[in-house]
Amino acid sequence: MASQQWTRTPKSAHLSGRTKTNTHPEVLLRRALHAAGARFRLHRRIAKGCTPDVVLPGRHVAVFVDGCYWHSCPEHGRRTPFTGPNAGLWEDKMRRNRERDLRATALAEEAGWTVVRVWEHEVTRDAAAAARRVLASG
Ligand SMILES: [Zn+2]
Repeated sequence: MASQQWTRTPKSAHLSGRTKTNTHPEVLLRRALHAAGARFRLHRRIAKGCTPDVVLPGRHVAVFVDGCYWHSCPEHGRRTPFTGPNAGLWEDKMRRNRERDLRATALAEEAGWTVVRVWEHEVTRDAAAAARRVLASG
């Protein structure tokens, strides 16, 4: 149903235009990496269609910080079907997010990078531990 249009609801108005860069978990992870003395760059395109949230060029590590809700984390992802006028569009959006995640990981790995995907909840629980996991991978 490609022609289906978003019906404006308070939720869609708020969420559909949301930017994905410089989210709170990303900022927390960056601070923790910085505190650990890591050298990193933000939002650098490392392959066509692949711009990780953080890259550590010296270690060739690419990091994606995935929001629990939008990237369907096993602990905090949505478990119930969407309802309401935009249900089909929300389902499509979530499915496209998962596909985009898989594609970005594959592209980075093909380009020779070690990929670390960090859940939002890992960073908000213990940013230093998340940073250690990133640094241990490279
Ligand atoms: Zn989570």
